[in-house]
Parts: sequence; C-alpha cells; structure tokens
Amino acid sequence: MQNADLIIKNGTILTMDSKNSILENGFIAIRGDSISHMGTGDMPSIKAAKVIDAKGGLVLPGLVNGHTHAAMTLFRGLADDLPLMQWLENYIFPAERNMDAEFVYTGTLLALAEMILSGTTTFCDMYLFEEEVAKAAKKAGVRCLVGEVLYDFPSPNYGSAGKGLEYTESLIQKWQDDPIVSIAVEPHSLFTCSPELLMASNELALKHRVPLIIHVAETLNEVSEIKKKYAKTPIEHLHSLGLLGTHLIADHCVHLGQSDIKKMAKHGYRADPGADQAGRDGWLGNRWMRIQQ
Ligand SMILES: [Zn+2]
Repeated sequence: MQNADLIIKNGTILTMDSKNSILENGFIAIRGDSISHMGTGDMPSIKAAKVIDAKGGLVLPGLVNGHTHAAMTLFRGLADDLPLMQWLENYIFPAERNMDAEFVYTGTLLALAEMILSGTTTFCDMYLFEEEVAKAAKKAGVRCLVGEVLYDFPSPNYGSAGKGLEYTESLIQKWQDDPIVSIAVEPHSLFTCSPELLMASNELALKHRVPLIIHVAETLNEVSEIKKKYAKTPIEHLHSLGLLGTHLIADHCVHLGQSDIKKMAKHGYRADPGADQAGRDGWLGNRWMRIQQ
C-alpha cells in the first residue's frame, strides 16, 4: 500500500491538461507538494492522512489573479466609484504617503485569506513595501509574482525616485531561489514614469531575466495625455522605448486602437485566454500578456 498526505475522490476533475481532459468520478492523491496519482474509476490502494469526498463538486487547478494591489484591501470604503485619476491623486496617493511595512503586510494577509477562499492560488502584485507582500505570500503558501512600484516621485518605502531600482534589484537577488515567490520590475505607468525610468526598468528586467510589468492604456485620459506629451499612443510609446518584448506584461490595455493591437500581435502578444472567458470587465480585465514561448 502506498502513502499520500491527501486524497480527493468522487469529484469531477478539470485537469487543464493539453487535451482539456475531464475526469468524472475522479480521484487525486497528493504527497508533499505534488500529485502522486490521478485517475477515474477504481482507485489504487493508497493510504492517506486525510480524505475529502468531493461528490457533486469540481476539482480544478488554483485560479490565477493576474493583477493585484493586494494590501489595498485596507483602503476599502476610502473613496469608491471615482474616475481613476481623481481617485489616485486626491485619495490614494496621499493615503499611501503615510503607509508603512506593517500596513502592507497586514493588508496583504487579508487579501490572501480572501484569495484562498475564492480558490486563487497565484497572484501578480504591484505595490509599495513589496518585501512584505512576498513575506505574507510565503506565510500563506500562495504563489506570487510581485514587484515594487516605481515612479518619478518619492516612495515612503525606498525614498527618492532613483532608489527604487536598487530596492527592486535587492528583492530579485534575495528571492531568486524561492520556489513560490518571484520578483518582477514594475514601473507604475506611462504617465507616472519618465522615459528614462522606463528604459532603466527595462534594462534591469532584461539583466535579471525577470518580467517587466506596467499599467497600459487603462483610461481614455491616459491615452490623450500620452498622445499630447509624446505624439504617440501608449503602445507606440512603449514600442519606441524598446519595451515591447517577451518579458513585458501589460496590464489593462482597455483603450487600444487597431494599429496598437496589430503592433502587439506582431510582437507575439495575445489576449490572455482568461480575459476572453471573463469578458471585458471580468476579473482579469483586459490584461494582455505575451505568452512565454
Ligand atoms: Zn493596477
């Protein structure tokens, strides 16, 4: 008789394998951090410390939340239902100036509890004091891709704007061998980051072979501001700075023109399949990403 830590049986298993196989009345045995057996019908003789009867239920891989600012759970009710820039500039940025590491750690733990309750086992975060986000994720056992937000103004975490890249590099080095925490370079947006900061961020991401993550074309206001400043759409601006590439995850991309979409497609981007399924305003929003080859 073989041993396992956990057996889940009698459920409908969505394997998400290359054939999208669905196993009715299936079983899964888990040992350590791996699935040791999976199938349908008669289960091999396995003894487990815990057995869950999933009759009538679906058993599926954990969900992935592609874009979070997890610690902002603690800002709920501060300012709701406002246009993005009004919300950011009048309420959120001022509140974040007084933030500290404990706030971020606690807010992230709350977000993680909610993620686990909804079946989310991986998230991609951009925020301040991101070391605390990594620690909270580690404590909760949730896989993550996280990075310190970078912009042209000072941060309550790393101080003057120039220090953000140093802080990010120290995070990359510290967590590089961790099995569940990965670090990305995360300039906030085209309207809060100078071309110099964007290019330096890109260089750092390429140097360490980590993803570069940024908000792009989230509002019409952003698109017109970038056009006025650089005579380019946000995607054209990214392209001209050399940022479109296999390592870039562009969040939102709500307001793209046909030529932007063509440009992204030319660089190998495709809409995240999750976004197609969830619709324009679904939980992935209109996140576009390059599918890693
Ligand atoms: Zn965001």
